[in-house]
Amino acid sequence: KLHNTILELKGNIRVFCRVRPLLPDDNSSVEGKILSYPTSTEALGRAVDIMQNAQKHSFTFDRVFMPDACQEDVFVEISQLVQSALDGYKVCIFAYGQTGSGKTYTMMGKPGQPEQKGLIPRSLEQIFQTRLALQPQGWKYEMQVSMLEIYNETIRDLLSTNRDSSRMENGSATKQYAIKHDANGNTHVSDLTVVDVCSTKEVSYLLDRAANSRSVGKTQMNEQSSRSHFVFTMRISGVNESTEQQVQGVLNLIDLAGSERLSKSGSTGDRLKETQAINKSLSSLSDVIFALAKKEDHVPFRNSKLTYLLQPCLGGDSKTLMFVNISPEPASAGESLCSLRFAARVN
Ligand code: ADP
Ligand code: MG
Repeated sequence: KLHNTILELKGNIRVFCRVRPLLPDDNSSVEGKILSYPTSTEALGRAVDIMQNAQKHSFTFDRVFMPDACQEDVFVEISQLVQSALDGYKVCIFAYGQTGSGKTYTMMGKPGQPEQKGLIPRSLEQIFQTRLALQPQGWKYEMQVSMLEIYNETIRDLLSTNRDSSRMENGSATKQYAIKHDANGNTHVSDLTVVDVCSTKEVSYLLDRAANSRSVGKTQMNEQSSRSHFVFTMRISGVNESTEQQVQGVLNLIDLAGSERLSKSGSTGDRLKETQAINKSLSSLSDVIFALAKKEDHVPFRNSKLTYLLQPCLGGDSKTLMFVNISPEPASAGESLCSLRFAARVN
């Protein structure tokens, strides 16, 4: 019900904010609680206030998940959106935020903790369960997945069996991963591995393989931070054998690169180049979503690989959800405020 109301009010773009709990390892050299949640009837579960430099900033989103919200609480609010991919919609769900804010936790969950699995495994379970449930009504579904990352504005195939997926076997010709959109709104990426799948287990295996081939780098934030965007795509084709009705949906689940600003990561050299590429694609994403929300005539899809790749799944009657992940650490107040402002712009 909540979803329908929001869709009617604001079109196909929604923003959810999720604040992760404080963790034992968090830097607590600065004391205090920086986030609070207004509880008036109208703001309940939708508003968050942040204190920075003794100033209070207030934000409202379609939904705000407080630190105590578990993975199930979050999934309940997006399951309808996942369902719409089976109904033939093109869906994108993004996780945006600084490194350590909970993007990967939201998307994938905690390894080895089934009850903490994130929205990718939960979505897969729902999709394959629904596929079974719809069989008696004559529906036959086929699913294909691809997984790629965009690193320094370059696509890498995460399911390639080639060790260096950017090189052809003879070592000379470089794979292009050229992006093409056809007249039916389908995207083709040349040379990209696309795998037919028919169970959650199969996709989990592929997700593990993809995780192993991702680029990671060390920053001064003292943890492995993801410097690339991870794009999981499931293409869903359904045909009803009695009514001959056909549907073609796409579910894109995207774990974005860390949004932290340059100064904090102390970037130089390669790290600087990475950070600039990340900034460019994140601001392009914001420009595109902003232009779509404002129904502007020109939407600058071509300004980054990410927005160009996802173009057919962002415009038209597709559905987009952006999670803005926030760390509650006082030391991260500046970054958190930046993330909230980014999200408020696209909201
Ligand atoms: P990011 O992908 O944004 O860099 P992570 O998802 O890796 O951040 O989260 C950083 C740490 O916080 C991880 O150890 C993760 O397990 C933990 N974490 C994040 N969100 C939550 C949450 N909602 N509940 C419990 N732990 C969380
Ligand atoms: Mg991550």
